[in-house]
Amino acid sequence: MSKHPARSTFFMTLGGKIRCPQCQATSKRTRQQCKAPALKGKSVCRFHGGRSTGPKTPKGRHRCSEVKIVHGEQTSALRTERSYASARLAMLESIGWGLGMMTGPKTPGRKPTSANAACPELVEILKQIRPK
Ligand SMILES: [Zn+2]
Repeated sequence: MSKHPARSTFFMTLGGKIRCPQCQATSKRTRQQCKAPALKGKSVCRFHGGRSTGPKTPKGRHRCSEVKIVHGEQTSALRTERSYASARLAMLESIGWGLGMMTGPKTPGRKPTSANAACPELVEILKQIRPK
């Protein structure tokens, strides 16, 4: 059994005249979905953090980010590293094509935009091979 049973997202109020979003929080007391309407533009009611605007102090923001890291597979540093690696690979492929060393199909998709930050030396080599 899943932790959260199927949750209703809307309910009718004012005698069935107004359809309004239902709070998605679970009541600590009853272990059931909160029956209150969610705040406008939010998924939870005022009692369940709908009016919260998040941590403000550096300490609070750091604590929040620590809690949100589940396993460290996706951190901004790792994403940047992966982005740079794929940009380097794309630049090497472009240089290979420019020198006539490559055969077969080219890698589909757009080229990474972080090439200038990832490998300026490869960008310079590519400019020398293919001057505009
Ligand atoms: Zn609620």
